[in-house]
Amino acid sequence: MRAITIEPGVPGSARLEQIPEPPPASGDVLVRTLATGVCGTDLDLVRGEFGAAPPGESRLVLGHESLGEVVDAPAGSGLAPGQRVVGIVRRPDPVPCPNCASGEWDMCRNGRYTEHGIKGLHGFAAEYFRMPARFLVPVDEALGLAAVLLEPTSIVAKAWEHIDRLAARTIWRPQRVLVTGAGPIGLLAALLAVERGYDVHVLDRVTTGPKPDLVRDLGATYHTARVREAAEAADIVIECTGAGQVIADAMQAPAPSGIVCLTGVSSGARALPVDLLALNRALVLENTVIFGTVNANRRHYDAAARALAEAEPAWLSGLITREVPPDRWSDALERRADDVKPIIRFA
Ligand code: BGC
Repeated sequence: MRAITIEPGVPGSARLEQIPEPPPASGDVLVRTLATGVCGTDLDLVRGEFGAAPPGESRLVLGHESLGEVVDAPAGSGLAPGQRVVGIVRRPDPVPCPNCASGEWDMCRNGRYTEHGIKGLHGFAAEYFRMPARFLVPVDEALGLAAVLLEPTSIVAKAWEHIDRLAARTIWRPQRVLVTGAGPIGLLAALLAVERGYDVHVLDRVTTGPKPDLVRDLGATYHTARVREAAEAADIVIECTGAGQVIADAMQAPAPSGIVCLTGVSSGARALPVDLLALNRALVLENTVIFGTVNANRRHYDAAARALAEAEPAWLSGLITREVPPDRWSDALERRADDVKPIIRFA
């Protein structure tokens, strides 16, 4: 079968190649890939910044955002041929730590978890993949290709679950949300904020392309000014750019008793001067919470599926800005100003 693979740690090693179909030992459900989404993590992997092949192998199949169709599933698995599914990215660590042992692998304590297409497990950018049934999430066929957004939506569903818990520390209810970055994570974070009834503001630097309209179509307000102006009285800030100055501004942006949620994995080595004492003083005197969040467990995938079902289908489809065939995979990995989510269409 055709697969897009990399040699982890080696920049420019990505290629489309023929590899054997996945062995039954990798899971009793066989899935035919319809599409894989491309995100910043994939770009970092292709640049050789991190990643790990499965033990004993030198190459890793890329892709952690999936949509596929069940080809074969054992009786009693709850899955049937033809059913559309998305694969869960992370697997619990082998120890397992207390969180992984209870299905909260997104909160793994020892870092020995594995992740499809990222760390120690082949990904979904191949014509077929295999999984144990419990790591597959059924999705509604009515979502069409937009179901490939389930994985990034699971990331923001987890972020929101944690924000909700933190917000419960005060009697007062937060009202205004600022999302920095109108990429897929930012837009999906804004979608969940709108679904929760918040007054939602989204900041990005682009003034053209689909992002401004996608934000307005949600009923949210689009900003291109600095964080400080856009943030005016934001109670919750969700940082989705991973960019140094935006992070620094976002941390100082919220109103008293505010919450800052960091979702962007920063890359690059440029150091950024921050006045830590001033930041500390502001955080202490205003009871601010700053927290990071990564990955998602099954509960978050289920919450994400509900959020996507509630969304306007045309709006979701608008997030998928390009579909490319596997032999043009490198186009999907190019960053273009007007892109939100490029996908590679396998079938
Ligand atoms: C994925 C997460 C993963 C993280 C770190 C993100 O792009 O969506 O599932 O945990 O990368 O590897």
